[in-house]
Amino acid sequence: MESFDVVVVGARCAGSPLAAMLARRGLKVCVLDRAHFPSETPSTHMIQSCGVDVLDELGVLDTLMSAGAAPLHGATIASDDVRIHAAVDGQADHPVLCLRRLTLDVLLVEAAGAAGAEVRTGTRVAGLLRDGDRVTGVRTDKGTIPARLVVGADGRHSTVADTVGAQEYDVTPPGRMVAWGYFEGVDREPLARFGRMKDMGYLAGPTDGDLYMAAIAPDQCRVNEFQADRDTFFTNAIRNWPELADLMADAKRVGPLRVFTKWHGYFRQSAGPGWVLVGDAGHFKDFSPGQGISDALRQARHLARSIEDGLAGNGLDDAMQRWWDWRDHDAYEMYWYAARMGAPGPATPWTNALLREISANPAATRAFIQVLNHDIPPSQLYTPAMAWRATARAIREQPRHAPATVRQFISTAREGLQQARRKQRLADRTRSMNREPDRSQR
Ligand SMILES: Cc1cc2nc3c(=O)[nH]c(=O)nc-3n(C[C@H](O)[C@H](O)[C@H](O)COP(=O)(O)OP(=O)(O)OC[C@H]3O[C@@H](n4cnc5c(N)ncnc54)[C@H](O)[C@@H]3O)c2cc1C
Repeated sequence: MESFDVVVVGARCAGSPLAAMLARRGLKVCVLDRAHFPSETPSTHMIQSCGVDVLDELGVLDTLMSAGAAPLHGATIASDDVRIHAAVDGQADHPVLCLRRLTLDVLLVEAAGAAGAEVRTGTRVAGLLRDGDRVTGVRTDKGTIPARLVVGADGRHSTVADTVGAQEYDVTPPGRMVAWGYFEGVDREPLARFGRMKDMGYLAGPTDGDLYMAAIAPDQCRVNEFQADRDTFFTNAIRNWPELADLMADAKRVGPLRVFTKWHGYFRQSAGPGWVLVGDAGHFKDFSPGQGISDALRQARHLARSIEDGLAGNGLDDAMQRWWDWRDHDAYEMYWYAARMGAPGPATPWTNALLREISANPAATRAFIQVLNHDIPPSQLYTPAMAWRATARAIREQPRHAPATVRQFISTAREGLQQARRKQRLADRTRSMNREPDRSQR
């Protein structure tokens, strides 16, 4: 029975890059997945520039570009009649990429193999090996694999998390479902489009295969209405964003609509004796700001360093606990921001006034892109001063809604306080474990 330093369960955005980075550090790594690749997974696929940085470090960027990845040099954010046009170029080392998972994931799996990791696809993990409390490997449908560390990179329904009993915390309900399709005959403007028209959310942009991806995000409570006539619902939704409808006037859909309805947001306990979770296995957030893939890539980069350090004799379990702290601190603000962005219902006069503040101010527009790229936390853009200016603007522009605007301002301020308390709880947890948090790298 061959044993490994690390066995990674799950071979997509978190698992394969991690396996590649560990193998390059000279560790003996096995990465396995029940899927055979190329393989689709339910996900749209805007990859923020900070994630593209990691793809570049992995050495796969040129291959991705020749596979047709669409580089997006800017973003248009629309909310009813508000428009923000923001450039990515000049602010980040790489453009945003839009690349179907069918194309991306197989290249990541190949990169793991090329780096020297043992890749076993079509292999399902059914349980874990243990020595007392300690996880010592995995049990698969093809036999057992002992390892010094088991990494769960196995997504939202993680077998590793389930088997070790990892608890969820700070759970959020789903705001919206999402449905998306791929289209021919659409002008491939190099832009990501994020939108909200009345109660409908949107995400769109050109992708590989000379296709255009368009996604709609209706309120979660409209699932049955959507399911009753998917095509008509989708077509009507696209018509409600006039610029997108114009762009897609001659579009012809290729393949079925993809649909994702059942989810919730969470953090999970992400480290224990002999095991650690990365990517969606440990944390899932609302998909509206398109963060999960770049988060998985950045997390893999950070975790690779922590594992190398831990296995080098510096206390593996402590290193994994510190990594879990880093993940929480890294993801925390964006988690609540994403939940607000994907909240159901139409935009209010206050939220639109906030976006007008951003669109009227070039520095704030730049900061908006920096928030999406994880360069600055949302609180650095959405300051109390900005919230106050937006309140004054909303009351000036729509005095009829003044009471609702003031209520939203107050409830947002309360939410800010609640978030500060939650952050404090995180810091307390770190302190109670009697260790310094590792917040050194992005
Ligand atoms: C609808 C939707 C839209 C999204 N849009 C975006 C977007 O535009 N941009 C963005 O950045 N992010 C987006 N995300 C988030 C993104 O898809 C995830 O964050 C990302 O896929 C996480 O990668 P992962 O490797 O952690 O997990 P996954 O991609 O879920 O991979 C987990 C892998 O583990 C394998 N596995 C599971 N259990 C086992 C087992 N027992 N044995 C063996 N293998 C197993 C699975 O087969 C799978 O291949 C979206 C998500 C959803 C749901």
